[in-house]
Amino acid sequence: MKSVIVVGAGIWGSSLALRLAETGWRVRLVEQHVPGHVRQASAGETRLLRCSHGADDWYAKLAWRARDGWRRLGERAGEDLYLEAGMLWFAKEPEGWEHASAQVLGGLGIPYEVLGPDEGARFFPGFRGDDLSFLLWEPNAGVIRARRATQVTARLALAAGVELVRGVAAPAEGTAVRVGEEVLRADRVVWACGAWLPALFEVPVSVTKQDTLHFAAPAGWTTPGVPAWVDHSSSRYGHGDVDGVGLKATSDVEGGPYDPESGTREVDAISEAWAREYLGRRFPALADAPVLFRQVCQYALTPDAEWVIAEAGPGVWLLGGDSGHGFKHGPALAEYVAGVLDGDFAPEPRFGLHRRASAKGLRTSGLS
Ligand SMILES: Cc1cc2nc3c(=O)[nH]c(=O)nc-3n(C[C@H](O)[C@H](O)[C@H](O)COP(=O)(O)OP(=O)(O)OC[C@H]3O[C@@H](n4cnc5c(N)ncnc54)[C@H](O)[C@@H]3O)c2cc1C
Repeated sequence: MKSVIVVGAGIWGSSLALRLAETGWRVRLVEQHVPGHVRQASAGETRLLRCSHGADDWYAKLAWRARDGWRRLGERAGEDLYLEAGMLWFAKEPEGWEHASAQVLGGLGIPYEVLGPDEGARFFPGFRGDDLSFLLWEPNAGVIRARRATQVTARLALAAGVELVRGVAAPAEGTAVRVGEEVLRADRVVWACGAWLPALFEVPVSVTKQDTLHFAAPAGWTTPGVPAWVDHSSSRYGHGDVDGVGLKATSDVEGGPYDPESGTREVDAISEAWAREYLGRRFPALADAPVLFRQVCQYALTPDAEWVIAEAGPGVWLLGGDSGHGFKHGPALAEYVAGVLDGDFAPEPRFGLHRRASAKGLRTSGLS
């Protein structure tokens, strides 16, 4: 039986562990805390699922496949992990990022509609879109209950035979991992360590602090009734209230350098001010909504927002650099990486350890 050690029980490591266990691998999953712990990027309350990725079609296809994966996972778990609320993109430029996205969606047969800015009021009470050229409607996009989905994925992985090893893993010679006094060996090792990866290996990844804000929702501002939204040019995004945590309105602009283990978990005052300023401008009814919930998380950013899926040495794989857009792909990415580990195909060259040029067309942020 082929054996693998996966380090990191975020959504990437847990999804991969589940997939490999269900396709005949003996899997050990090493985690320094517990699956779903609040420092990991996968423990945000919610994450958006969108197929729009500007001019890129690879991630659009993967997200579309992942949508099926989330729905199947929800059915297995007996709970709605994915809320298919739809997503509205607020497009300022007539031929900008959203236009390119629509072209790709059309080419792939992924449903979308182009709406006038005034139609925003159909979705959001009191919506103001007078600065916009059009709205791009993705009806099958939506919101994933992220932390819950991570816990469920890890639980299903254990039920499928994955052995969870608690401890801090360090690289050892060959396809081995040191955890405390013990050295674990397997045919393959996958380091799916999120923002901790650059401290372990030479990777083109930097880590930034990201503040998330949720506001008390007035009646009628609940998702899935209210869709998710993204303003790419302003680097703002959000959705209605999910599970009473409040409606999310936050920024995708990258924050300052951050240590995921010891960094402060206090939100900066400026993040709250920005979120409130945007809400007041776009959704005047929410201008005075009180903050209900704050969460600090971190991005593991590559310069070009392309991921890292690379073999660092024979049988030793690095899986990281999610660049703030990796959650939604979890189940489909696991299938892809399992194919790589099974030797069915090599990963795309774009995921290598080469020097990367700066680009951000894959993110929901048009600003730096
Ligand atoms: C504010 C914010 C908003 C986001 N919004 C979206 C969104 O809307 N849509 C989307 O698709 N994505 C989004 N993302 C990105 C998404 O959250 C990440 O792509 C995804 O969670 C990455 O998962 P991961 O498993 O790689 O990392 P993590 O979830 O961080 O997991 C890594 C795990 O590895 C463990 N680990 C690390 N080192 C070791 C070690 N040496 N030994 C043992 N264990 C170790 C850590 O404890 C951790 O549990 C967002 C991210 C942030 C921060």
